[in-house]
Amino acid sequence: MRIAIGGLEHETNTYATEPMGTTGRSHFQSGSGEELLNARGQRTFLGGFVDAAEAAGHEIVPTFWAMAGPSGIIEAGAYAEMKQELLERLAAAGPLDGVALSMHGAGVVEGIEDLESDLAAAVKEVVGDIPLVVPLDLHGNITPEMGEVIDLMLGVHEYPHTDSYDRGVECIELLPDLASGATRPTTAVVQMPLLLPTSTTDIQPAAGIRDRCLAAEAADERVIDATFFHGFPYTDVAATGASIVVTTNNDPALAQQVAAEIAAEVWASRQEFLSEATPPNVAIDLARRVLSEQGGPVVMNDTADNPGGGTPGDGTHLLLAMLDAELENACFGFVFDPAVATQAHEAGTGATIQVRLGGRHDDLHGAPVEASAYVKTLTDGRFIYTNQMLAGVRASYGPSARLVIGGDRRGENGFDVIVTSRRSQTFDREVFLLHGIDVNTRSFIGLKSSQHFRAGFRDLATAMIAADSPGLTTREVTVFEHPSANRPLWPLEPDLEWSPPTNT
Ligand SMILES: [Zn+2]
Repeated sequence: MRIAIGGLEHETNTYATEPMGTTGRSHFQSGSGEELLNARGQRTFLGGFVDAAEAAGHEIVPTFWAMAGPSGIIEAGAYAEMKQELLERLAAAGPLDGVALSMHGAGVVEGIEDLESDLAAAVKEVVGDIPLVVPLDLHGNITPEMGEVIDLMLGVHEYPHTDSYDRGVECIELLPDLASGATRPTTAVVQMPLLLPTSTTDIQPAAGIRDRCLAAEAADERVIDATFFHGFPYTDVAATGASIVVTTNNDPALAQQVAAEIAAEVWASRQEFLSEATPPNVAIDLARRVLSEQGGPVVMNDTADNPGGGTPGDGTHLLLAMLDAELENACFGFVFDPAVATQAHEAGTGATIQVRLGGRHDDLHGAPVEASAYVKTLTDGRFIYTNQMLAGVRASYGPSARLVIGGDRRGENGFDVIVTSRRSQTFDREVFLLHGIDVNTRSFIGLKSSQHFRAGFRDLATAMIAADSPGLTTREVTVFEHPSANRPLWPLEPDLEWSPPTNT
């Protein structure tokens, strides 16, 4: 088979504020043509496409792929430019048997609420009547239009998304039967009026729903895929919310029935998805207790400033609380602050500098940390992830530094803080190792992430405690206004009663 591969991935946080409030072309990393084959072996959608297509002996036609980290709405011109390059490359590709495109499911463009449907429809217009398969992130706000225009969409089942690669592989493996007509996918999208905080599938209730979806796939060979999309609550569009998507082989009634059954189970367990907010000082008390009873390291994650959800990455609520608590043998990785990283690089290792760290972006995410800091380590911020979710993917955080706050004049016995020049959540221990910190020997580790860090830390931490605070990805999803979302929406309307539609 000749299979075109490409994609356009963005999780749009419509609440993001400048400079991430709008996402321009320069925010996207992208590749064209043969460059896409560099994804070979990477644990990503695209890596799965390339590996599976090569393993099966298909001819790969690499087109155009782009991805930006989560941030604000995509500029119309930027989207038009990328869409055009993808379409032109598809038009020039010659005869194709199928197309595989990696997308997210929560992409929003100025004037276009549903990037995925818009792009998929344009692609189908160019390539004609051949199957289009699309792997999606479970944080997609899925629309019925996506279900109609995309022949087969496969959502990741895991959060942390350790199965992105597997979904990419599955897309390619299913393509021959779609192309021959042996499989005729029929998809049901059951949208739920449900706004969920980030919910890892490592624990209940999301683990149980994930298992329920996998059981539905295993129980009936007509069920090709059943996915629980958690939705992305930090996007305000009509379709914001959770959904169940089930695809069967030529049986729309069965797809609808299975999707409705699972949706009813999610709805019944909705209260379990909400949890008491744990402010940083309470998280620290909990962490101290765990340390005394079970040892360390104990991870505290700054869930309200998760750059993986479109936040500034320079918030200080948890960092300041950890410093105030005078925790021993503690480290924090990391704060996005290019000015302080530059200051440290100019001063050099062994220097002591006065810093105003973080808290530059806005007032919501905390005040700057004013401190004297010892410059312990300077790096180029480059390494390769090793966690189950992103193994093999290169990270590039720009000029970075390990600072020691509150130590002696040689920088010993203080609090280690890593500072980078690029915004990201923390996925694994590698950024610490790069700066000479072995997290296994630490008592307390602070980091910025909501759930993905679990893939890199669950095997080494005695506990992982979410510290919530004001911030653009707080677990308190009801603090955000949702003027564009279809209402009612639970828990914004806490007394809402709902049951899934069962007709097709
Ligand atoms: Zn996601």
